[in-house]
Amino acid sequence: MAQQSLLLELMTALGRVKAIEAYIKKDEADARYYGLQQPGIIWVNPVTPIVEATIHELLHEVRPQWPESVVVAHTTRLLHRMTDADIQAVYRLFQEVKVVQARTVDPDD
Ligand SMILES: [Zn+2]
Repeated sequence: MAQQSLLLELMTALGRVKAIEAYIKKDEADARYYGLQQPGIIWVNPVTPIVEATIHELLHEVRPQWPESVVVAHTTRLLHRMTDADIQAVYRLFQEVKVVQARTVDPDD
């Protein structure tokens, strides 16, 4: 119940803040950002998680013998070495080749 109340509070805040979708570049320590917040403003970066998932799933495609832990490790390593330009280029390519499926995918099917 407390979680439902917190979620409701967050959705109320979403109606109040300025919500911005943008790519957030890596910082000087090479950390990737999925979002940022300043009072009254949130930035959400859809690019990095989409590129991370794309790289991860493509690794499963090209190295089907690799266990999940190896795919995760290589995903992290590749993303760490990719520049902002690399990440944005993979995102643009994904946007070009993707199809959007309306039907929800059930991993248990
Ligand atoms: Zn996986």
